[in-house]
Amino acid sequence: MNVHWNQGSEDCVKNPQPPIQVHQYNAQTFILRESLCATYEAPFMYLLIGKRKALLIDTGAVSDAKTMPLAQRVISLLPNFASRLPLMVVHTHGHLDHRSGDDQFRTLRDVEVVPTDLASVKDRFGIADWPKGLGQIDLGDRVIDVIPTPGHYSSHVAYYDRRTGLFFSGDFLLPGRLLIEDTDADLASARRVAEFVERHPVTYVLGGHIELDQSGKTFFGTRYHPNERPLQLTRQDLLALPGIVEGFNGVYANRGGYVLMNQNRILILLGVGAVIVLVAIILILRDLWRRVRSRSQSN
Ligand SMILES: [Zn+2]
Repeated sequence: MNVHWNQGSEDCVKNPQPPIQVHQYNAQTFILRESLCATYEAPFMYLLIGKRKALLIDTGAVSDAKTMPLAQRVISLLPNFASRLPLMVVHTHGHLDHRSGDDQFRTLRDVEVVPTDLASVKDRFGIADWPKGLGQIDLGDRVIDVIPTPGHYSSHVAYYDRRTGLFFSGDFLLPGRLLIEDTDADLASARRVAEFVERHPVTYVLGGHIELDQSGKTFFGTRYHPNERPLQLTRQDLLALPGIVEGFNGVYANRGGYVLMNQNRILILLGVGAVIVLVAIILILRDLWRRVRSRSQSN
């Protein structure tokens, strides 16, 4: 898979970029990406078309249909535009950069938007035993397995397309920062996924973002990604994940080419650090004030 993704721009006002890039992987599979100029998250979304139904995985970071005509573009990619297939909209997880386009789909006919809360995810995909069980979505001659992968987000799931062997990993595994909210859950997910891919052929692992360049440097919060590394990871990367998550200190680490971090804990530590600095400043000022006062009294 050799795709050159739009690299955004150093100045998106002077050099605006098209809002959505679409790569046709095969006749029934599309990879969509929101432009870096529209959102520095530049999330990927995936459209899989079956005989009876189409499936969209994630709806991106931009809600406004005028600046980001996602629904319009997705519908235009469906066969028989006029009497088109029903569309099911699902998510890898509930972070806003993966579901902000939902409202664009809610008003359309023959479109179901599956919510991201755990109860809905379990119920709609038929996952009785969370997180050990699997769910299925049948698009008619195309079955997608739904694999619980909590850790980054409590109701995170990955999707495996039996027809193409594509594994859609969301933010559970991507070329970039692995943000881990719950290390134990994440490690257990990595182990279960490794077991799953031992038994299934995987062509590519496709995640939610690209945050690394070719030399391994991390992009974050920038609308310009020169020399981005490719989107696709491999089965081998999934198999190596348990070893990378194992032994993670739960705050921040650089392991196996990924940056692992728990943003909540880092925020708490930064908060505690700020309080310590503040208290120290108050103590120093109080001390100075006392000295000045005792000097003026002794004069
Ligand atoms: Zn996320």
